[in-house]
Amino acid sequence: MPFAQNHAENMFDQIREFFSKLLETESWPARWHCGTWTEFHGWLYIFSDLAIWLAYFAIPLFLVRLVTRKKDLPLPTIFWLFGAFILLCGMTHLIDALMFWWPAYRLNGLVRFLTAVISLMTVISMYQFFPVAAALKTSLQYDEEIQKRLKTEKSLIEAKERAENSEKVKQQFLSNMSHEIRTPMNAIIGFTGLMERTKLSPDQFEWLQAIKYSSGNLLVIINDILDFAKIESGTLELDEKKINIADLVHSAITMLKNKADDKGIGLIFSIDSAIPEVVLGDSVRLTQVLLNLLSNAVKFTNQGEVKVEVLLLEETDDTVSIEFSVTDTGIGIQEQHLETIFDSFSQISNNNTRLYGGTGLGLAIAKKLTELQGGTLAAFSKYQEGSCFKFKIPFKKVDLKDTEDVVAEHEPMIEFIADKRVLVVEDNPISRKLVSIWLELWKLKVDLADNGKVAIEKLMQNEYDIVLMDIQMPEMDGYETTRHIRTQMQRDIPIIAMTAHALKDEIDKCMRAGMNNYISKPFNPTELLAKLVHHIKYHPRSG
Ligand code: ADP
Repeated sequence: MPFAQNHAENMFDQIREFFSKLLETESWPARWHCGTWTEFHGWLYIFSDLAIWLAYFAIPLFLVRLVTRKKDLPLPTIFWLFGAFILLCGMTHLIDALMFWWPAYRLNGLVRFLTAVISLMTVISMYQFFPVAAALKTSLQYDEEIQKRLKTEKSLIEAKERAENSEKVKQQFLSNMSHEIRTPMNAIIGFTGLMERTKLSPDQFEWLQAIKYSSGNLLVIINDILDFAKIESGTLELDEKKINIADLVHSAITMLKNKADDKGIGLIFSIDSAIPEVVLGDSVRLTQVLLNLLSNAVKFTNQGEVKVEVLLLEETDDTVSIEFSVTDTGIGIQEQHLETIFDSFSQISNNNTRLYGGTGLGLAIAKKLTELQGGTLAAFSKYQEGSCFKFKIPFKKVDLKDTEDVVAEHEPMIEFIADKRVLVVEDNPISRKLVSIWLELWKLKVDLADNGKVAIEKLMQNEYDIVLMDIQMPEMDGYETTRHIRTQMQRDIPIIAMTAHALKDEIDKCMRAGMNNYISKPFNPTELLAKLVHHIKYHPRSG
């Protein structure tokens, strides 16, 4: 038999013999009988081995408790291996102590071998995981990081507070600016309207039309910027009122009819007969979207026609979904521009701005306003053939018996208010003059007060049917005056605020102060007349 084979068989026999006689102890004497142990030497050995075993048994218990308790402990494999390694080390010491009486040399060999395997595995894993372990942060480093984060968090909170504060300042600035610009605009537009009613030479009439057109445009731009800022800051709120869709579309068409006639283009509309006569929604914002699309269509069309179509898309028990489309045969929009035309301040080319004017805000506002009303707005176009803008909005249905207000607002009649007495409280002499000329044209008896204090004195001495109240005045402002009239004087006389502050906040403030209605400056005479009739004729109060 060759030596190697013989050697291997011999080894195999030895292993088999090793395991079959694992717990046999006959071949060796107990350790007490090996060599010359003194009692002290032997017990020192035994005691130390048992103490080491106890400690080595307890340490893995702590490790196991730690691993099972702390689920997110980093590198748990190493903890398990380390536990097993220490446990086995302890076992070798236990057997070493037992061998003073029980010479289990084979078992001792096996436990040592297992300890060797597990310790090597522990070393290999520690080597593998070393980079990860070295990258782990110490609690000191975590503390530092937490401190850093707390600092960042604090500065973020401060930055947020600063931003909120500057938002408030911006709102205040907008409110003041809008007030300052609207007051002179009120005079320009108002007196232009009055002058139009006088006898003028053809030249004068033409110049007046230019003033009227330009001031109208300026007002649109101011309103656009204000609306855009309100939308951006999320402060624009919708007002829900009854709307007669057919009337609203008709009025929008009427507003642009002259312009379309001047350009020699047709302006037509059709309304689905299935649409309910009255629905609930924000008529001002709906008109704004429609007028924007319509005026763009007229502006960018040089021949052909502009068509408005209104369709009922869906109807449930409580709602109707209505689609408005404005189609033109104008210059069209190239495909690559269709996606960006709804971006704010975007105009297709500088050439367009020179040719047609505008701020590039109209469509951005129209889209946001449609979305605020729960709808969507989309554009379709073929370059040099025409464009179509479609928007759909869901409206709530209205009980038809309840339409008295809508009708009332549509038939303001001067006879209803002739000879009634009105007190105009306004500090600006030009605005005072303007409003009183209109009121006198409607045959109202006008009395003037240039601040709240004078108004209160006049109200104590005379009888009036209605008060028109400016807000910003020296001595006593409109809010304070109204509160005084309502609380101290206990008077229920209708008060209409005339405010150049077009912000919703200001309007709410007027209502909270006890006013019955408001009209924003520059005022529309027809709207003012309608509101006067509404409060004097339909809702008179005990002055
Ligand atoms: P602007 O105040 O400049 O009209 P808009 O936001 O309303 O701003 O429109 C943005 C741009 O989209 C316009 O400058 C124009 O180039 C294009 N546009 C809008 N409507 C039409 C249309 N009906 N036909 C052709 N181009 C249009």
